[in-house]
Amino acid sequence: MGKTFAVIGDPIDHSMSPAIHSAAFRQLGMDCSYIAYRIPKDGLEDGLAGLRKIGIAGFNVTVPHKIRIMRYLGRMDEACSIAGAANVVVNNEGILKGYNTDMDGFMEPLRRRGINFAEISVLLLGAGGAARAIAAALAREGTSKMTVANRTVNRGADLAGFASGLGAESDSASLTEAGESADSYDLIINATSAGLGGDSDSPMSMKNVRNGAIAYDIVYAPMHTDFLKRAAGAGASVIFGYEMLLEQAALAFEIWHGIKAPRKAMQKALLGGF
Ligand code: NAP
Repeated sequence: MGKTFAVIGDPIDHSMSPAIHSAAFRQLGMDCSYIAYRIPKDGLEDGLAGLRKIGIAGFNVTVPHKIRIMRYLGRMDEACSIAGAANVVVNNEGILKGYNTDMDGFMEPLRRRGINFAEISVLLLGAGGAARAIAAALAREGTSKMTVANRTVNRGADLAGFASGLGAESDSASLTEAGESADSYDLIINATSAGLGGDSDSPMSMKNVRNGAIAYDIVYAPMHTDFLKRAAGAGASVIFGYEMLLEQAALAFEIWHGIKAPRKAMQKALLGGF
C-alpha cells in the first residue's frame, strides 16, 4: 500500500504543499498521497493521535505548530534543535523524528548567489518561528553583523540575543528605525507575515534601501509583495519567497523518500499555483 503524507496547520486550505509533493509523486510514478489536514492551535495532541491512527509516514508542520510540535518528538536532527522548531516530521512506527528544512531551504537561494556572509550586514525583519530559523541559519553561515527589527520590539531584542549567542553579533531596532537606516544593509529579509495575501504593505519603509542591496521576502503569496516591489524600485535585486518554499519542500521530500527530489516538476506545480 502507498504511503500517506500530510501538512498540518491552521489555516491550511491555501497550502501549496499538497500540489508540490503530488507533482513529485506523479513525476516519479510513486504510489503515495499527500493531504492537507487542519489542526487548530489547541488540537495538536488529538490531531497527532489521528495521524498515527492512519499510519501517516511523515508530515510537514506549519503555523501555528512549528514550535509546539517539539514536545511530541522522540528524536530530532541538529537543525531542528538549534532552531527550536520543526517543519518536517518522520513517523517511524509511532516515534516521531523532527527536522528543520526551513534553515537550508532559506539558505539555498543565497548560496546560489555566492554571498560571503562574513562580509555583509544583514537586516532581519520579524521575530517569529521563521525568523528564528533564519537567524540560526545565518549564524551557522558565519554572519557577523545583523540587526533584528520587529513590530513587538522586545521580541526582536530576544531574537537578537539568541543570534548573538550563536555567534552572529546582533542588535535590535524598531521597524521605523530599520527603515530610516536601511541604506546600511547589504541583505534585507522580510520574515514577518506582513504582505501575506497581498492585503498589507511592506513592514518598513523601503525608500532608503541601497541600490544593489538584496531584498529577500519569505512571504510567497503573492509572489510580488509590496516589500519586493518597493525594493526593486529602489534598485535592489530580489529573492522570492517561492524559492525558499520550493527548496524546503525538496529537502523534505529527500528526507522522507531517500531519493533526489524532482525540483523542476515541483517548481512547475508551485508556479502554476500562482
Ligand atoms: P509567526 O511565528 O506567526 O511570526 C509572525 C511575525 O510577523 C512576527 O514577528 C510578527 O510580529 C510579524 N508580523 C505579523 N504581522 C505584521 C505586520 N502587519 N507588520 C509587521 N510585522 C508583522 O510566523 P512565522 O512562522 O515566523 O512565519 C512568518 C511568515 O513567513 C509567514 O507569512 C509564513 O507564511 C512565511 N514563511 C515562508 C516560508 C517559505 O518557505 N517561503 C517558510 C516559513 C514561513 P510581532 O512579534 O509583533 O507579532
